[in-house]
Amino acid sequence: MMTVCDKCRGTIRLERAVDMDAGLVITVYACVNCGWRKAAEPEPKPMTARRW
Ligand SMILES: [Zn+2]
Repeated sequence: MMTVCDKCRGTIRLERAVDMDAGLVITVYACVNCGWRKAAEPEPKPMTARRW
């Protein structure tokens, strides 16, 4: 798992990106410093009907 950004060596967080129109969700690496993002999963997954 990545812990620093490729570009700026900033801190990487895992975020969940949601595409409401397509009904898909994917986990991405996101740099808190420069905003760089990269998918952490090979492909998006369908959202479940379950509520949090
Ligand atoms: Zn960065």
